[in-house]
Amino acid sequence: MIFPPRPRRLTGMTAQIRPILIHPDRRLRAECEPVAEVDDSIRALIEDMLATMYDAPGVGLAAPQVGVLKRVIVMDCVDKDALPAPVAMVNPEILRVSEELNVHEEGCLSVPEEYVEVTRPARVRVRWLDAAGAPQEADFEGLWATCVQHEIDHLDGRLFIDYVGPLKRKLITERMKKLKRARAREQEEREAGVA
Ligand SMILES: [Zn+2]
Repeated sequence: MIFPPRPRRLTGMTAQIRPILIHPDRRLRAECEPVAEVDDSIRALIEDMLATMYDAPGVGLAAPQVGVLKRVIVMDCVDKDALPAPVAMVNPEILRVSEELNVHEEGCLSVPEEYVEVTRPARVRVRWLDAAGAPQEADFEGLWATCVQHEIDHLDGRLFIDYVGPLKRKLITERMKKLKRARAREQEEREAGVA
């Protein structure tokens, strides 16, 4: 496996943990816009997304999951015990996929506590801009390959539950609606308690 190049040091700005949208939400179904220029606002978004991903915790996060409809993703798929290897991609594009497939049990921070087996190409070649705006290209396999395809799907409004049958997808969606209602209730109760 060719390990993806590490991003250069980012802005050093204080990162903020942003709320993660839960499915169903129309922003999770939007086609995201390409980034015209990798400027400080994009670098700040990347910092926030990495902080949000590590806090969750997750191995990948796409900008639409924090309500920003731009083509930006972050990932870190190394073992929990290994040193962090954050990767940020702006305008990522899949150039090539292997014929060989891989089945992986996927989850998503926008569809909490649901895991389904998804079949995808085992290896992919991806081109993107890093946080400095420089073009990068690398091959991914294993969890990295699954993750990068899952995150790029988000940029096209696609979720991992789109790979399961309609019945199962409906069941999961109903559970998510319930979860959102419960969380909204908790929030109301908290606010009422504070008042
Ligand atoms: Zn996801």
